[in-house]
Amino acid sequence: MTDEAYDVVVVGAGAGGVAAAALLVKQGYRTLLVERAAQVGGRASTVDIDGFGINTGAQIFELGGANKELFDELGVPLRARRQAKPLVLRMGRRDIAMMSGPSGLLINKVAIPVIGALARRFGWFRPAEHQRLDDWLAQLNASPAARKLVRNLTSAMFAAEPADVCARVFFDYLTKKGGMNPYGAHPDGSIGPWSDLAEYFERAGGVLRLDSTVVRAEVGPSGLIESVVVADSSGSTTTVRTRCVVSNIGPVATGQLVPAAQWPEGYLESLAQQNYPGTLITINFATERPIPNLATLIFFGHTRRLAYASYVSGPSPRLAPAGRHLYCVTSTPHPASSGFDTDAEVRLLEQEAAAEFPEFATAQIISVAVCTGDWPGQRAIPGRDWPNATPIANLWNVGDGARPPLAAGLSGCVESARLVVAAVNEKVRLN
Ligand SMILES: Cc1cc2nc3c(=O)[nH]c(=O)nc-3n(C[C@H](O)[C@H](O)[C@H](O)COP(=O)(O)OP(=O)(O)OC[C@H]3O[C@@H](n4cnc5c(N)ncnc54)[C@H](O)[C@@H]3O)c2cc1C
Repeated sequence: MTDEAYDVVVVGAGAGGVAAAALLVKQGYRTLLVERAAQVGGRASTVDIDGFGINTGAQIFELGGANKELFDELGVPLRARRQAKPLVLRMGRRDIAMMSGPSGLLINKVAIPVIGALARRFGWFRPAEHQRLDDWLAQLNASPAARKLVRNLTSAMFAAEPADVCARVFFDYLTKKGGMNPYGAHPDGSIGPWSDLAEYFERAGGVLRLDSTVVRAEVGPSGLIESVVVADSSGSTTTVRTRCVVSNIGPVATGQLVPAAQWPEGYLESLAQQNYPGTLITINFATERPIPNLATLIFFGHTRRLAYASYVSGPSPRLAPAGRHLYCVTSTPHPASSGFDTDAEVRLLEQEAAAEFPEFATAQIISVAVCTGDWPGQRAIPGRDWPNATPIANLWNVGDGARPPLAAGLSGCVESARLVVAAVNEKVRLN
């Protein structure tokens, strides 16, 4: 045991962990943020591979909504910038601008708000409560083209297939108030917003420990966690006392931090039963010349697997060495959670990438990331998240896997951080 004591220990510096830690330190809590990796960001980070800045997961950072509110509240400048050429939906040979021009206006200012308002007010168009998305499509006699489009949307948004998603969650998510958020790219890549927040956290007095792993949480006689054991990269351990723990490592892994006997009977089994992460496969590649028909982020409506492609170094040139251009293509396999044939799925993605972009055939493949298992596309496909609270009253889950309803991706992680910080406040006030 050391003399180290904190009000809150945050385990993991992914988006949800960094957001929670920054809000906690702003509110005056002595906060320790422990991260296993050498840098913050988790699945929204950027690492060096062969001189390229390769994103570990997320490409899109929403500039509005929960993300903007967080940065505004903390007074941290949002350095991610709206892309000059925003999102495009490619349907065969046709590109439909989703966020700009007349089509963007029609989609975001007319179609989505009107359908959403009618659904909220009268229940029109809204699928039945427990209907699966693939069943809903069948009921609507959706054409094969419409089914491909919906599959790719569920892949890009949820790392899932229609069979995995509740139709009402999909519908409500697409038509929710506020509509689609403009997105942006940070000059440093996906890590940028989270390293900006981590800098704020340290400036405000928080302690960030990188290359360190929380290996255990120790529960006292009161049934509350009293300390955590942190191992550094050399393997030496420190015991840190704390009043609260916020875990950003996913509910299932959080379950493993605490000795099994401390959980109510059946809790760990129920976590395992509900565990159904979504998968994303990303190929990062580079060319010497820009690819003319890949100038921005493209969603595909007509492909079997290729869900989106992105010109990563377009808005963030420092992610590629001089004279090189960095891109990625991404898919969700079938089945989306587990049991897919990895080699066949990667091949299918390669074939579709080459069919769309002939330059892919001669490109330098920098990495192929199959994001599944404990590094998934989504820990919980929306509609399947666990609650923030756990049976241990001073331990909460934050981030992917513990997001509120109709929240996804990074902004969903930020929303969950706000809920957890409110719960910490409540707990501390009561004690
Ligand atoms: C390929 C891919 C593409 C995606 N694209 C997008 C996108 O474009 N837009 C979007 O909004 N979302 C996207 N997502 C989803 C998004 O990346 C995640 O929802 C989000 O990053 C998850 O953040 P989190 O808060 O759950 O933390 P995580 O990213 O899961 O971070 C958890 C952190 O905890 C650390 N850790 C684990 N165990 C320990 C321990 N015992 N002690 C200390 N530290 C530990 C890990 O190293 C990690 O840094 C994508 C995901 C993937 C994989």
